[in-house]
Amino acid sequence: MPRSWLRGDSLGVNPDKLECIPLNLRVCRWSYRQAAASGPTGASVRGMSHIEAVRGDITEQRVDAIVNAANSALLGGGGVDGAIHRAAGPELLRECREVRRTAYPAGLPVGEAVVTGAGELPCRWVIHTVGPNWHRGERSEADLARCFTRSLEEALRVGARSVAFPAVSAGVYGWAEPTVARVAVSAVRGHDQASRLELVRFVLFNDRMFDEVEAALKRG
Ligand code: ADP
Repeated sequence: MPRSWLRGDSLGVNPDKLECIPLNLRVCRWSYRQAAASGPTGASVRGMSHIEAVRGDITEQRVDAIVNAANSALLGGGGVDGAIHRAAGPELLRECREVRRTAYPAGLPVGEAVVTGAGELPCRWVIHTVGPNWHRGERSEADLARCFTRSLEEALRVGARSVAFPAVSAGVYGWAEPTVARVAVSAVRGHDQASRLELVRFVLFNDRMFDEVEAALKRG
């Protein structure tokens, strides 16, 4: 299987249209061209990314890289972090310990991102990012946006072409779901390098979060 097997064009997405399959599949695909990449006519397929929302489990995504809503310790936790570590197996924890020992002895700062391998997950890389914790008074939308943009940058740095994001900070860290949806979608859309990726997929664990991201994608 080619490393980047999830090509946007093979998904049958019309690049000029919003496509929603709202019933059983709960998938919303929205394709866009970055203005800088498409030029004034917007005719080129090169430099085009697809952004989509799916309801599902991020550990099952067959993309190049998945993003983990980690905590600063990088040693696993609850929520999506726990699910990713359970599915990846002990190799992921070993790599995270190594990251702590070498690059981030004091822990990964809020808004930063770091890449490891993916252990037994069906993707190639896990990108760990630390969202701001609303309950601790970390309420900067810029910090939350940086989780998404720094993760995209790390994905591009290692050569990923498709990336799946969870709703960082929308769980235990307590941010409101509509805010996370708005910030996440606008951070990805606004990133000048995002068009170098073929696919950005938001993977939402519950209907409410899915609906929020779908609405943010539709708002354009
Ligand atoms: P945070 O501490 O950053 O808030 P959480 O893991 O508590 O992170 O929650 C972030 C989001 O991830 C929540 O919307 C939660 O429902 C969702 N989530 C939990 N498990 C999974 C999973 N396996 N796949 C995708 N999303 C998940």
